[in-house]
Amino acid sequence: MLAMTASARKRIYFDHSATTQVLPEVLEAMKPYFLDKYGNPSSIHSFGREAKVALEEARKSVAALLNADPMEIVFTSGGTESDNLAIKGAAMYKGRMKGHLITTKVEHHAVLEPMDFLKRFGLEVTIVPVSSDGLVDPGDVEKAIRNDTVLISVMAANNEIGTIQPIREIGKIAQARGIPFHTDAVQAMGKMPIDVKADHIDMLSLSAHKFHGPKGVGALYVKRGTHLEPIIHGGGQERGLRSSTVNVAGVVGLGKAAEIAKRDLEPTSDRMKALRDKMIKAVPELIPRSYVNGHKTKRLVNNASFRFDFIEGEGLVLQLDFKGIATSTGSACSTGSLEPSHVLLALGLTHEQAHGSLRVTLGRENTEEEVGYFLEVLPGVVSKLREISPFNEKTPMGASEGGSCVQ
Ligand code: PLP
Repeated sequence: MLAMTASARKRIYFDHSATTQVLPEVLEAMKPYFLDKYGNPSSIHSFGREAKVALEEARKSVAALLNADPMEIVFTSGGTESDNLAIKGAAMYKGRMKGHLITTKVEHHAVLEPMDFLKRFGLEVTIVPVSSDGLVDPGDVEKAIRNDTVLISVMAANNEIGTIQPIREIGKIAQARGIPFHTDAVQAMGKMPIDVKADHIDMLSLSAHKFHGPKGVGALYVKRGTHLEPIIHGGGQERGLRSSTVNVAGVVGLGKAAEIAKRDLEPTSDRMKALRDKMIKAVPELIPRSYVNGHKTKRLVNNASFRFDFIEGEGLVLQLDFKGIATSTGSACSTGSLEPSHVLLALGLTHEQAHGSLRVTLGRENTEEEVGYFLEVLPGVVSKLREISPFNEKTPMGASEGGSCVQ
């Protein structure tokens, strides 16, 4: 019997890698900067000065989360802008617009697209592969280094499959060769400790809405002495690296979210990890021909990514939504393309396999009861979808190996 019926229960949110709830403490901290303390931090009067003080306090909180110096934090509009600034800014420094960059097959589009953009101007990019559980081999990164390499960018943790990359080893290699190392830590923040000094990181992207701050605000950590060209020109805010009036209320929210992430990292990680492991163990036991995507242990504490033979991920997400459970699929990108996720293909999966994926990403407020409900509901939903699937055990096309679209 189900612990709760769909009608009697509240909705369950299992899509924390897409975005998170703004915590009440964060919202409270932001409110005065919309209503009373609405000055422009560049103004010299008292309104401006109080906004400036708030900005600098937030800068300290973000820096403390990373073991950085506050002056090394540049506020941006989010993870995408931070990635663009790090990549284009390093490549375009002093108008050089030449050289070679290194990244991996499983990066977010916010990294891959700027790299592609630079290729149009003659820069060269090496895209390092990953293992079947999504891990980058630091040796492959080292082998890809050339005399003209201007940047290495490897994400801290993957947004779809949760695999955590060996960024400390890669950072060490980059440092030894004198090449700036950027990491997209958008998914890692608040879920694992990151120390920019110990991890040899020169630039790091983060985004407030992934760890209970507001949307549309983020930061780029830029180690003192890192050469970077701004990509947005104007009034010279953020030490000339990011012009435009800073989103003060948003940045205050980011600062508060960073403070909470640091304060609560251990207890929230332990709780999420226990729930994640319960799901990762139970799903393959409960459902035949179901598998876990990504590394079993080197993965984000909140990420459980699965795939099911003979299933379309979108159908699964919709059926779970009918049952009150919000999840996501890694099988199609956000533009609605029918192309399977580049991350799942990079693991060596066929198109069919990649299409049958389900991403469950936990948050600090999820409970054991919610995970229990999910585990009760999922087998029935999968069976129902398999019954109506044109690809099932009886049709060779549905076989998990060697489908029609082998990559
Ligand atoms: N990088 C990664 C790994 C992400 O998961 C995301 C968002 O999903 C981004 C970058 C983009 O962040 P934002 O939504 O703040 O632009």
